[in-house]
Amino acid sequence: MANDKTVSSVGEFGLIEHCFKNLGRSDIPGVGRGIGDDAAVLFVPRTQDLLATSDTLVEGVHFTRDADPRQLGWKALCVNLSDIAAMGGEPRWYLLSISLPPTTPLAWVEQLALGLAAAGERYRVALVGGNTTATTGPIVLTISLFGVVGNGRPILRSGAEEGNRIFLSGTLGDSVLGLRRLTGVDRGACEKGMVDFLLDRHVRPMPRTELGMALVDAAVARSAVDVSDGLLADLGHVCAASGVGADIHLEKMPLSLAARQWLGDGDGDRWRVLLTGGEDYELLFTISPGALDQIPAIAEKVGVPLTEIGVITREKGVRVWNSGKPLVLSDAGFKHF
Ligand code: ADP
Ligand code: MG
Repeated sequence: MANDKTVSSVGEFGLIEHCFKNLGRSDIPGVGRGIGDDAAVLFVPRTQDLLATSDTLVEGVHFTRDADPRQLGWKALCVNLSDIAAMGGEPRWYLLSISLPPTTPLAWVEQLALGLAAAGERYRVALVGGNTTATTGPIVLTISLFGVVGNGRPILRSGAEEGNRIFLSGTLGDSVLGLRRLTGVDRGACEKGMVDFLLDRHVRPMPRTELGMALVDAAVARSAVDVSDGLLADLGHVCAASGVGADIHLEKMPLSLAARQWLGDGDGDRWRVLLTGGEDYELLFTISPGALDQIPAIAEKVGVPLTEIGVITREKGVRVWNSGKPLVLSDAGFKHF
């Protein structure tokens, strides 16, 4: 199709047919009926629980019109994948509800679909339906994703117990440093390779799907959350849901080379950025000390570093220690309201 077209020139059904229908992959199990009927028909084996999650991206709030739509498609699916990963589930099917101004270039939607296709391929999930509408306002994109996990096996936020060791996958804070580069907050000299790495971590999150599933397989995790609002906020969610607190230690934090360089001598304000910056999409989970010896094999199997960063306490609240001294923090993470 020629690329000077807008969505109004192809119409609602033209758009679904042209951009979305081929995201309905035939290799994903459990699809009785995908795009094209009044509702999708999906099969969940009796031995499994269904996991459901949803996230909305709004133009002007989560992205700007000049953002790369392909990256947006990737990210929109991946933020949902990260939620299913945090529960230890296997992602399967998603719905896409999209509201577009009639003047939106068709090419924009095509690129969005390419980003969705790439994430769908990497994480093996199929688009099975959705809704398409015009809007007089900004572009709004809602994805609802469904996954499966063995009966009673989902890893909850509420299972953390005193003495549990706290683990973080990957590295902390790269995404917020990428965002600060994008928005010009950080302008200082930095090697190009490092800048590219940080930007990539921001625009192309890699949900820890295989890790979540491996944690369920090994039955080691007592609680888990994905780091989307910032490490402190998300650890706070686990502690609140579990009725416990936590001590974490800055000298244990896994940092990329780029983040380590940016941190320099590690003053409190810079640590605060790393601890409260969101969108890492890493997993934070807790295990009982008896399961510690299983962690290296899991890290090796999924190819992601797993680092012990602290311990769950009976005393409520999250305390951050910098070489034995407390770091005082006020603002804990991103909130919309
Ligand atoms: P209905 O009017 O019965 O709700 P629609 O006419 O809105 O159905 O949609 C027709 C089919 O196209 C449905 O199967 C629906 O799930 C699918 N669909 C609509 N919009 C999208 C979209 N953005 N992505 C994927 N599938 C979609
Ligand atoms: Mg209908």
